[in-house]
Amino acid sequence: MTAANGIRLVLFGPPGAGKGTQAQLLKESLGIEHVSSGDLFRHHLSNGTELGELARGYMSRGELVPDEVTIGMVIDRIGGIADSAGFMLDGFPRNTAQAQALETALLERGQRLDRVVHIQVENGELIRRLSNRYICRVCQRPYARDADTGAPPKKCADCPDGGDIYQREDDTEGAVVNRLSVYHQETAPVLEFYRQRGLLADVSGEQTIDAVHHSVLRILNVSELGAVSKS
Ligand code: AMP
Repeated sequence: MTAANGIRLVLFGPPGAGKGTQAQLLKESLGIEHVSSGDLFRHHLSNGTELGELARGYMSRGELVPDEVTIGMVIDRIGGIADSAGFMLDGFPRNTAQAQALETALLERGQRLDRVVHIQVENGELIRRLSNRYICRVCQRPYARDADTGAPPKKCADCPDGGDIYQREDDTEGAVVNRLSVYHQETAPVLEFYRQRGLLADVSGEQTIDAVHHSVLRILNVSELGAVSKS
């Protein structure tokens, strides 16, 4: 048994599967760092960096940003995390070249992944979720439209100054269809990469948020006290 805060995970699944939501819950349960490649790109975009400008077109079309840019950005971020701290990756890797680069970078640090958790959701449900998804510009918390008014909230309930709620440009219908097709063509083959390494565990993402969270904790073999088996 090893301390849960040292675990290294990939949260894998199509856009809209709930990776970001589960990552927030796991961060609270395990105290490990959350590394979202999409959030890193959005941070660059809102800061107007060169990298952000490069990524902008790909992101708005729902295409993958080229590996030459993406791999370095994510590996740098992981490099800033203390060896003992552990992390979960969300949105990376998205093709086998990225999975290979991650494996090599971790090996150079004498590390390997402990688990890859694959959150499964059908296409129809993903389209319904994404086109109904709004997020906070500050903390990225997701929101849905209110069932009665049909409108999303204007301000985030979690942010002290109430971050603005907006719909991502790539959550509009055309971009969503493209993102799902990119997922099935380019990203889904990564599952085989991890299956061959014995790291893959599947969980249904079509349960309540809490039920998915508990399924993930069971997969990670996390006890009440936050200990995890890395066998
Ligand atoms: P996400 O928030 O994970 O849905 O990512 C939003 C967008 O950022 C994606 O549609 C891609 O354009 C880009 N992106 C995020 N992660 C990656 C990645 N690992 N490889 C290439 N592009 C990515």
